[in-house]
Amino acid sequence: MRLPALRLWWLIAATLLIVVAAPAAGPRGELILYGLAGTGAVTAVLVGIRVNRPPRPAAWSLLAVAAGLGAAAPVAWALAPAVLIRPGITLYDALFLASYPTLAAGLALLAERSGTSRWAGLTETGIVLCTGVVLAWVMLYDPYVVDRDHPLSSPAVVAYPFLDALVTGLAIRLIVVQARLTRPHLIVLAATLLMVASDVRYFLQVTRDEPIEGNLLLSVGAYLGAYVLISIAALHPAGPHQDRAATVSTWRTLALHIVLVLVGPIATAYALRRDAALHELDPADLIVPLTLTAVVAVLLVVRMALATRLAEKQAATVGRSLTEQAALQESMRQMALHDGLTGLPHRGLLEEQLALVSAASECRGALLLLDLDGFKDVNDRLGHTVGDELLLAVADRLRPLLGPGETLARPGGDEFAILLPAAGAAEVKARADAVLTALRRPFDVTGHTLHVTASIGIRRLESRARADELLSDADLALYAAKAAGKDRHELFDPRLRREQADRIRMVERLREALEADEFTVHYQPIVALRSGASIGFEALVRWTPPGQPPIGPDRFIPAAEDSGLILQLGEWVLRRACAEAGPWHRRYGTTIAVNVSPRQLAEPYFADRVRQALADSDLPPHALTIEITEGVLVRSGAHAELALAHLTELRADGVRVAIDDFGTGYSSLAYLRDLPIDILKIDKSFMPNDTSDAQQAAMVRAVVDLARSLGLTTVAEGVETAHHAELLRTLGCDRGQGWLFGRPGPPAAAALRLNAETTVTVG
Ligand code: C2E
Ligand code: MG
Ligand code: MG
Repeated sequence: MRLPALRLWWLIAATLLIVVAAPAAGPRGELILYGLAGTGAVTAVLVGIRVNRPPRPAAWSLLAVAAGLGAAAPVAWALAPAVLIRPGITLYDALFLASYPTLAAGLALLAERSGTSRWAGLTETGIVLCTGVVLAWVMLYDPYVVDRDHPLSSPAVVAYPFLDALVTGLAIRLIVVQARLTRPHLIVLAATLLMVASDVRYFLQVTRDEPIEGNLLLSVGAYLGAYVLISIAALHPAGPHQDRAATVSTWRTLALHIVLVLVGPIATAYALRRDAALHELDPADLIVPLTLTAVVAVLLVVRMALATRLAEKQAATVGRSLTEQAALQESMRQMALHDGLTGLPHRGLLEEQLALVSAASECRGALLLLDLDGFKDVNDRLGHTVGDELLLAVADRLRPLLGPGETLARPGGDEFAILLPAAGAAEVKARADAVLTALRRPFDVTGHTLHVTASIGIRRLESRARADELLSDADLALYAAKAAGKDRHELFDPRLRREQADRIRMVERLREALEADEFTVHYQPIVALRSGASIGFEALVRWTPPGQPPIGPDRFIPAAEDSGLILQLGEWVLRRACAEAGPWHRRYGTTIAVNVSPRQLAEPYFADRVRQALADSDLPPHALTIEITEGVLVRSGAHAELALAHLTELRADGVRVAIDDFGTGYSSLAYLRDLPIDILKIDKSFMPNDTSDAQQAAMVRAVVDLARSLGLTTVAEGVETAHHAELLRTLGCDRGQGWLFGRPGPPAAAALRLNAETTVTVG
């Protein structure tokens, strides 16, 4: 059977038993049936404990025992009414009386302590108990027992008022201590109320010498009814455990305390008036209630003190948790302000310190912004773990270089910042040099020996300068140091800001120029040194803003590279050059060389774009040469690999690859052997200035010999004089390009030149 149904049936059965069957069963039968109801109540409480597993099983067990004693009492009365435990106290009395302490203990244990302390609960019980005793004394004991002139038929009855005071006290304590009163609690409270009412009734019956028989329903029956109610409470499903932090509502406690404070004096006053009216004023009549009222007052003061102490404790706990919270917040702030890898301050903290230093009216010192030159390569080639280790090693090497009051920070990536708040101009330079020197020593990182250098931008501090401006100025100086060749420091100069503004404006103008189609391609002949015939042209981009002379690529290619516009521009040049050189190739068999930026080679579709350009202009692959700079292939990492793949693919199609400006970058020649290249273009800086420069001639010879041994075609750039041409011819160089043979010119000039050359040959 389900629990709610069981509860209902049991309630109906018990009610019928107590209210209908028992009174009709005759004097003995009535008592036996009450005993039966009591036994049912015990069983139901036990079932409730088993099924519901309530939060306080011991309390419920005690309640079951109390019900058991209460059930045994009427049976004892019915079966052995004459058995005396003591003179005047029957077995029936003893069983009934014994049920009270058990019930009281059960009630005491039932309350789950909440925010209130154990002592507060005890004090509360004491206050309620004393008030109950005052009431019991004044209303029942004094008038009906003390002031009595003949002995009681049942002396045990005198204990009832005080036992009821105890039980009521504990019931009220339950209300005070239990923050969340559940339905089982409320039913138990109702049962207590019923029991006290039945006791008062019984007490009055006995003390007024009224006959007991025939009124059992209102005393014994109600008493057992109370246990039936307790068993119904036990059969109620238990709620969840009370939250320890839950507190009793202040209003509930306050109202109770006011009532309790008033009961003592009012009851005493009542006793006084009553006894005075009867002219029976006995000192005990006043001493007892007054003493108890005084005790209540003292207990209330204690209770107050306990409440204050609890409040203080709670305040201390709150204070402690606030302190903890603040500490947590601070550590989170520190985490946000510091770099997780090196533990160095982040950009935010650096800016704070910068602002602090430059807030002073007089401020010297400088900010050094440092960027590792080869870091990206290390990361690409060896992975991020090695990169991280390198950053740690760099931080470790930089730390000892700091003096007191100086700061090392890591604003991000491979950038470090050093704040020297008190260094003079000369010292700042010396310190920057020391940093560069320290970093030039190779790093041993997880089995790799790494060579890195740094570029440093220096910004002198200025009072009342904004931190972010100081940082961006240092960044400009750093950019300048990189542009000037890295592994050096550069001091910020307002000129750098103008240059940066120029760069930004240049990018804007380039973007517009691309849209407005302001670019053209000029062609410079590449001649066979032996015959002097133009065997090909190099395509060189020109920017011709309307109404202005053409602008050379040296002035805008860097900006195009930086902004990424080179991708669009480079492809445009490639397609235009292929389209314009198509007819020349078909008529004269000439080739076309196109410069390609490293950024184009880092694009995944570069080879496809070249194929498309060739197909669209109907130019065979072997008529196209791609010119790249040495750096593209020498650098390691993902970009270099992609570039290598593109070039290998295109060479397989027949496209030629030339290394441009050879000799200006990486001096190691050994790598040439492994690269997918066909042509070496010797940089114009190799051309001797005068006829007597034998050393320069020897260099050119070495390069030409090397190229020949590798099966590469050589093209000399910057052939300006007849002497250059003569020298190159004797050294065995294959081709030449330079002003001597022709300056870069518009496509029409190239066509004219080709036409003239064939006319001459034919002629
Ligand atoms: P580069 O590829 O080495 O081109 C040769 C440069 O040398 C050209 O400069 C050319 O005008 C110049 N030159 C030719 N003969 C002589 C000579 O006898 N003496 C001297 N002193 N110079 C001579 P230009 O056209 O100013 O181009 C400069 C650089 O711009 C090129 O160097 C190339 O790296 C880059 N460039 C030009 N067009 C493009 C392009 O379409 N794409 C890319 N990515 N770069 C380009
Ligand atoms: Mg070139
Ligand atoms: Mg060149």
